[in-house]
Amino acid sequence: DAKLRGRNRFAFYSPDMAERAHERMAMEQGLMQALATDALRVHYQPVISLADGQLVGMEALLRWQHPELGLVPPARFIPVAEESGLIDRIGVWVLRQACQQALSWQRAGHRPLRIAVNVSVRQLAQDHLVEHVAAVLAETGLPPQCLELEITETAIQSIEHSRERLRQLKALGVMLAIDDFGTGFSSLSLLKHLPIDRIKIDRSFVTGLPGDSNDAAITLAIVALARSLKLALTAEGIESPEQLEFLRRHDVADAQGYLFSRPQPAPALEPLLLHGHWQPT
Ligand code: C2E
Ligand code: MG
Ligand code: MG
Ligand code: MG
Repeated sequence: DAKLRGRNRFAFYSPDMAERAHERMAMEQGLMQALATDALRVHYQPVISLADGQLVGMEALLRWQHPELGLVPPARFIPVAEESGLIDRIGVWVLRQACQQALSWQRAGHRPLRIAVNVSVRQLAQDHLVEHVAAVLAETGLPPQCLELEITETAIQSIEHSRERLRQLKALGVMLAIDDFGTGFSSLSLLKHLPIDRIKIDRSFVTGLPGDSNDAAITLAIVALARSLKLALTAEGIESPEQLEFLRRHDVADAQGYLFSRPQPAPALEPLLLHGHWQPT
């Protein structure tokens, strides 16, 4: 209960800090071990075309199968991976897994799917990134246009040479998407100078649809922006039929969310892949 009292008190130093530093180190070591022992997992979340319910893509989302903690979500460990530099190795691993999986779905006779992979700020800052992506494409044989890299607005803005890096990636023939769009501070003119193919409307705006008039206004502004800049559009985090209806009515092309499917291990997605369409139950 000393700990509980500590939380309610303002202090420049708290024993919590030491505890947290220790936790971080333990997590870093655990992550290294996870890489070595194959304890990382990639789950996939379907992307659905709103016009006809067709399955058009999958987003690769990383998890850590921890021996004691169970399935650890990326928000818990990606920051540590970023700070320690482990994200470079983890990032290549995810990319390879995702490309191999996409290819094996294609080989199994499914329609070609877009596979989306998240790239974090630290990865974007490394010039190795372009070589790594090129190497994984060459090694797996996945057509580059089937791979979409998702980069947040904030990452693009916080890195000095990001525009050049995006150009180099684009030159490989891959697709580029801005993730969590609307949560950063990009000036709209930034967009027009970037070789971007798609924007993803952040879940925080979708949550309030259709009732919240601010969320609706922001969503419609993003829809108009995407249309005039000729960018593809995906909405994230659709959980209700009402949100789906609003987005469809306003011509948002693609969507992801728990309404369609949670991110799942590849085998669990077989029924949807076989059917090729999402159907309301
Ligand atoms: P993100 O790329 O914006 O991914 C969307 C997140 O929203 C995922 O969380 C997904 O599970 C969740 N989500 C999807 N639909 C819904 C919905 O309808 N409702 C709610 N409440 N949530 C939904 P997740 O998997 O925990 O990933 C969180 C973030 O971690 C990702 O955000 C991405 O920024 C990062 N991340 C995940 N995998 C990787 C990776 O392989 N590399 C890097 N660098 N970052 C990753
Ligand atoms: Mg993403
Ligand atoms: Mg997102
Ligand atoms: Mg996000």
